[in-house]
Amino acid sequence: MIGDYILEIAYLIASVLYIFGLKMMSDPKTAKNGNLWAAVGMTVAIVATIFLYMDSEGKHLHNLPWIGGGIAIGSVLGYLMAKRVQMTDMPQMVSLFNGMGGACAAIIGLIEFPHYAHNPESSFLILLTIYAGVVIGSTSFAGSMIAFLKLNGNLNKDIRLPFYNVMNTGLIIAAVGLTICLAGGHIHANVDMWVYILLGLSLAYGVLFVLPIGGADMPVVISLLNSFTGMAAAFGGFLYGNMAMLTGGILVGSAGTILTVVMCNAMNRSLSAVIFGAFGTGGAAAAAVGDGKQKSYKQTSPSDLAVLLNYSSKVIIVPGYGLAVAQAQHVVHELESILSSRGVEVKYAIHPVAGRMPGHMNVLLAESNVDYDRLVEMEDINPEFSTCDVVLVLGANDVVNPAAKEDPSSPIYGMPILNVEDAKHTVINKRSMSVGYAGIDNDLFYRDKSSMLFGDAKKVLTELVSELKAL
Ligand code: NDP
Repeated sequence: MIGDYILEIAYLIASVLYIFGLKMMSDPKTAKNGNLWAAVGMTVAIVATIFLYMDSEGKHLHNLPWIGGGIAIGSVLGYLMAKRVQMTDMPQMVSLFNGMGGACAAIIGLIEFPHYAHNPESSFLILLTIYAGVVIGSTSFAGSMIAFLKLNGNLNKDIRLPFYNVMNTGLIIAAVGLTICLAGGHIHANVDMWVYILLGLSLAYGVLFVLPIGGADMPVVISLLNSFTGMAAAFGGFLYGNMAMLTGGILVGSAGTILTVVMCNAMNRSLSAVIFGAFGTGGAAAAAVGDGKQKSYKQTSPSDLAVLLNYSSKVIIVPGYGLAVAQAQHVVHELESILSSRGVEVKYAIHPVAGRMPGHMNVLLAESNVDYDRLVEMEDINPEFSTCDVVLVLGANDVVNPAAKEDPSSPIYGMPILNVEDAKHTVINKRSMSVGYAGIDNDLFYRDKSSMLFGDAKKVLTELVSELKAL
């Protein structure tokens, strides 16, 4: 039928648009258009399915009012949320949307299994596809909801139930075992009940797997959940023989997996430790209390810092979560431009988990048109700190905490950090002496070469810029 060919061509066009869109997202200059291309691809796939899809009896989709209603509600909600979200709340929103994707993939499995499970001709592969979609999709949904609550500050960062490692491992073994039994046709009675038990086990695993993860380990989990959702969607695409869904799922799944590996390397964690929930040492609370001794620190002011910066030859700026909170990306770019125009070499040091989502600092600085060539990744910038006069740490804390190198009892021990203390002067801007995301004290603030510059990053940087202009 001609309609089928057009539908396949539409899916092919959608898949190509996803691939080009994703490729364009790897460069900040083209990322916005890449997002648009992928969205156009998705629109092509949806419109083609609605108007051209036909079932085995040659009938078009009959529930168009329901589909139209769903699309209308989803579009309005999505538009309003995307318009209103603050930059610093983006990670929560990404988690929420990722969870919705996982839920959709799980619901596909729940709707489709009655059509296949009771049919003796259903192959092991097709049943495995359905049940794996339920397990991975619902794990991603439940895990993403917990990640959302943690990032939104509604849940404690790390809740450790007794024997959580044993429970998590037991749950995942039970879910995998039940999936294989169901797909292999070894369960004949009460199949529906066992599928819902499988759903319950997977939801429980999703919750318990993310619940104990706190400290500085969330980035790995976020990217892992992202890859789970992609995989679950790919199972749906395989089940329906839908090329656009399969390609989209594979792209999200593989991009998420690559990001997970990158984040694992950045955090110095092994993937198996993440999956079995065996990581995080639980020392955050103890470390936050510290050793009880009053430690002293030096303070500096915008005017003193302006003089120091003006006579420097090399300055490295370390952006962190606080810079995003303060929305100080434009004024930091102004500072960088003034210094550069006076012959100072200025670079930005980008830690892979700075901020609250992968690539947070890149996105933030791209907003203010900072030249991408000035952004230097951690491995490349670390040897340069010893050659620089001033490091300006702006709203960063965990990513410059030397406890990661020096204190084996610290929950961030082993995480690679930016070696800012190698510079001649380290100036740290934040509002107080309080802790960062991992909830631990930072000895950097009390070191001989460090000075604190207290205040909101935007306010302090604005003062600094006017002091510099006056010199
Ligand atoms: P941190 O969360 O460690 O520290 C941010 C600091 O910014 C705080 O100590 C805070 O101190 C300061 N701050 C807050 N508001 C302002 C403001 N308006 N002006 C100036 N300073 C401000 O941030 P980092 O970027 O160093 O580290 C990121 C952390 O988040 C890591 O632990 C990482 O693992 C975790 N994480 C990262 C994710 C990712 O994908 N990138 C995802 C989830 C978690 P004060 O209150 O005193 O101002």
